[in-house]
Amino acid sequence: GPSSEPIIPTVPLTAQMRDSLRAIVGAKGLIEDEHGKQPFVTDWRGLLVGRAGAVVRPGSTEEVAQVVRLCHDHGIAIVPQGGNTGLMGGATPWPAHTGIVLSLGRMNRVLELDPTGYTMTVEAGCVLQTLQETASRHDRFLPLSLGAQGSCMIGGNLSTNAGGVQVLRYGNARHLVLGLEVVLPSGEVWDGLRALKKDNTGYDLKHLFMGAEGTLGIITKAVLKLWPAPKDVCTAWLAIRDPRAALEILSEAHSASEDNVGSCELMSRSAIDMVLRHIPGVQDPLRAETPWYLLLEWSSARARRDGAEGMSEKMEQFLADQLEAGRVLDAVIAQTGHQSHNMWRIRESVAEASRAEGPGLSYDVSVAISRIPEFIDLGLKAVLDILPSIRPYPLGHIGDGNLHFSFMAPVGMDQQTLTQYKAAITRAVNDLVTSMDGSISAEHGIGIDKLDELSHYRSKTELDIMRTIKRALDPQNIMNPGKVLRL
Ligand code: FAD
Repeated sequence: GPSSEPIIPTVPLTAQMRDSLRAIVGAKGLIEDEHGKQPFVTDWRGLLVGRAGAVVRPGSTEEVAQVVRLCHDHGIAIVPQGGNTGLMGGATPWPAHTGIVLSLGRMNRVLELDPTGYTMTVEAGCVLQTLQETASRHDRFLPLSLGAQGSCMIGGNLSTNAGGVQVLRYGNARHLVLGLEVVLPSGEVWDGLRALKKDNTGYDLKHLFMGAEGTLGIITKAVLKLWPAPKDVCTAWLAIRDPRAALEILSEAHSASEDNVGSCELMSRSAIDMVLRHIPGVQDPLRAETPWYLLLEWSSARARRDGAEGMSEKMEQFLADQLEAGRVLDAVIAQTGHQSHNMWRIRESVAEASRAEGPGLSYDVSVAISRIPEFIDLGLKAVLDILPSIRPYPLGHIGDGNLHFSFMAPVGMDQQTLTQYKAAITRAVNDLVTSMDGSISAEHGIGIDKLDELSHYRSKTELDIMRTIKRALDPQNIMNPGKVLRL
């Protein structure tokens, strides 16, 4: 976390304000007791615990606007929160926070699904998986997909510009959006809820709010793009020679699959072993004992037809060629939904397994795709030079040039001891990323966790633009204060 707490507004909630909040959201929409507030002031990892005067749960845009206007008029700080699965502490209030956590969870309606126009209009508190299932019932596909999908909410996904396992084909969360509705820090509602693919009428305001981590306003609704539902999907688990082979495999997979690569996830043996240790019921798809694996999925919207070659025949041929080329050492293709589910479960349980494993460090970095192998070599050397007994378990969305460069503490080392090494390791990793023209936060954002790193690694020009935007929209600094920017 950051070296010191940023200065945030600390105007307390008066009894009168609590009455006003209750009048807006009803008694059920206001949580004031410590026990009830607990889950909203603690982050997913359980490492950060903040405070809040109250948790407010509005049920409509109008209620959000009224709550924000009230806070604005009294200088009360607001922390917007969706599913609270963010990994950077963006949704967790600071310990000095006296204002509210504004939870979007009650705004969970799908307002419209237009199968012909391939769009879906939704409220910000819809759980991602529910939206995927809704699209699927209409034979449509919402491609945003990540390990937290059972609890993260679309407003949180857009506010973090979430990535996940299908970015390679469909882009980040911001690429899936046509329109937004946002409650500004003044309480004014910006209605940009348009379902337009083309709209070059001045600045594209929606992109300002996506990835802003709730510091510029509260996303209340969105128009999402949809795609045709996948009909022919093939998932394979590959033991591979090394990360360079992973890039070569991916590069050739694009044409071999006729441009149907959906996902390509790199995993280290140590990440897989960690999942097998902590997550009950998952099976190792291959007993190979090589250091690197790839989860490769191809999917086509065209249904399989009798006698015609489908995704799995194409994949089989491709894997045979890659075995022959020496890039793949062993491979298995999922034959049933259960088998492919098991493969995905391994990949998507890494965050949960690492939470169970205990103390660790994780860096969500990106570099140009072709430089991933070089980054892994140099990065491992740099970190092991500082703490030789640390246990790396790198993995990543390799098609996006995105690595989760992660480490378990040495066996027996506690969090406090690991923290003594953290500053040096963080500096080494981020300096390397920067020297390779990469990013110190590829998809998880800044939140509380990377406050110091952002101000260290982004240029003065960039930071000045960000501050100018923040001050223009939120002059009182009440909207998620002390996140992303220190100001
Ligand atoms: P929250 O954690 O509630 O909030 C995140 C940020 O957005 C906060 O700053 C909050 O203030 C703000 N916010 C929330 N809702 C709104 C709103 N309506 N308006 C304005 N601001 C808002 N992330 C990835 O990118 N890719 C992954 O593959 C991935 N995998 C994950 C796997 C696991 C197991 C876990 C636990 C997390 C993973 N994450 C991943 C991180 C996390 O799931 C994403 O950041 C997700 O988008 C957060 O959504 P949320 O609803 O939980 O948001």
